[in-house]
Amino acid sequence: MRPEEARAEAGRCARCGFCEAVCPTYNAVRARHYGPRGRLAMALMALDGMAHDRYVVESLATCLRCRACELVCPASIRIVDVIAAARSAIYEGA
Ligand code: SF4
Ligand code: SF4
Repeated sequence: MRPEEARAEAGRCARCGFCEAVCPTYNAVRARHYGPRGRLAMALMALDGMAHDRYVVESLATCLRCRACELVCPASIRIVDVIAAARSAIYEGA
């Protein structure tokens, strides 16, 4: 997914929070940046050049890519693909 596509996809998040209930890392840590909703916000930060931020890096690096969040998202956001694009922005400077 290209960076501009990832930005648009993340921007569609309605912040309803349905995805957090099914995310294994959110349920283990109970911190918003360890859940899908927080990861979309962190992905936007990474795509906007905040790749040096510790919380951004941690948030995106700890996603298990299980896609449980995508199954319950009412907006059908491609969360894992957005996270992958943001990780590329961090590690490849995309
Ligand atoms: S379920 Fe979808 S729309 Fe709702 S907070 Fe999660 S990612 Fe955003
Ligand atoms: S794909 Fe990542 S954000 Fe989504 S439920 Fe799995 S661990 Fe959580």
